[in-house]
Amino acid sequence: MAKAQRIGVYPGSFDPVTNGHMDIITRAAGLVDRLVVGIGINEGKGPLFPLAERVAMLRDEIDHIVAPDAAKRIVIEPFDTLLVQFAARVGANLVIRGLRAVSDFEYEFQMSSLNAHLDPNIETIFLMASDRHQFISSRFIREISKLDGDVSPFVSPRIQTHLKKRFGHS
Ligand code: ADP
Repeated sequence: MAKAQRIGVYPGSFDPVTNGHMDIITRAAGLVDRLVVGIGINEGKGPLFPLAERVAMLRDEIDHIVAPDAAKRIVIEPFDTLLVQFAARVGANLVIRGLRAVSDFEYEFQMSSLNAHLDPNIETIFLMASDRHQFISSRFIREISKLDGDVSPFVSPRIQTHLKKRFGHS
């Protein structure tokens, strides 16, 4: 009998995708057969980049950064439902989250417990952020870029181009 595929979901807003997200995506792809990167639509949260651009940026980053055999096992899917509903829809029983120092812990602890109550089939696993990515968050990238600061240590040149265009900097 064929072995069941291990499918994991890595959800986020990716507004925009950072080197920290890419590190988690690369590592997560090594743990599952198929990785579904879920982009929360979050229209209410007023994202900086429209959904289509966030999807395009993620695909571009994955195709540039992740080894081709792993990249083809990664798909990107927008969702606007509960995370457990999204995971069930794509056939995943693993949710992967990144954890930065202490700042993420309380929120993530609460979320994973709630999700386990909502769907006991779903297991959340946490990958610790690498040392050099501990301080990267999409929010800070947006704030620094808005004021035309240097975000080159935190996002790729491709994402820097999107940010400059978005904020009208040359
Ligand atoms: P952010 O918190 O930067 O706005 P998201 O909401 O898109 O990003 O986060 C999606 C997931 O990626 C979360 O599990 C978050 O903890 C994780 N993550 C975000 N930035 C990093 C980073 N620098 N290193 C590791 N994980 C991260």
